[in-house]
Amino acid sequence: MADCIFCAIAKGEIPSTKVYEDQHVLAFRDINPMAPKHVVIIPKRHVSGLNEWEGLAAEEQLALLRACTVVAKEEGITESGYRVVSNCGPDAGQTVPHLHFHVLGGGKLSVNLA
Ligand code: 5GP
Ligand code: ZN
Repeated sequence: MADCIFCAIAKGEIPSTKVYEDQHVLAFRDINPMAPKHVVIIPKRHVSGLNEWEGLAAEEQLALLRACTVVAKEEGITESGYRVVSNCGPDAGQTVPHLHFHVLGGGKLSVNLA
């Protein structure tokens, strides 16, 4: 999608620090990390957020959730623990309208989810 930062990252037009990639998914380090380990996981194909989850094929949906666990393993945080978050819409503070999951860990996280 034109003028989408994460589409540009997926195409390599904007540089990012890649952590993981497969056919459907790209994972890269967040530019403004909120935890010692903070990785953003996106589908390569544009959908605006979780409200458009059904617009993804089952294979893409599976690849996204699988990537969260693969990234956690590669970041070495499976034992210490981690959190997976997807902000959807204004009340959740979604700032980039391209579906993404945050994988956060590497230290004690806030218990405040809301
Ligand atoms: P949201 O607030 O939509 O849930 O999350 C968007 C995230 O994308 C934010 O944590 C923000 O720091 C990150 N972000 C925004 N622009 C860029 C960018 O150009 N590169 C990278 N690596 N992360 C970005
Ligand atoms: Zn996009």
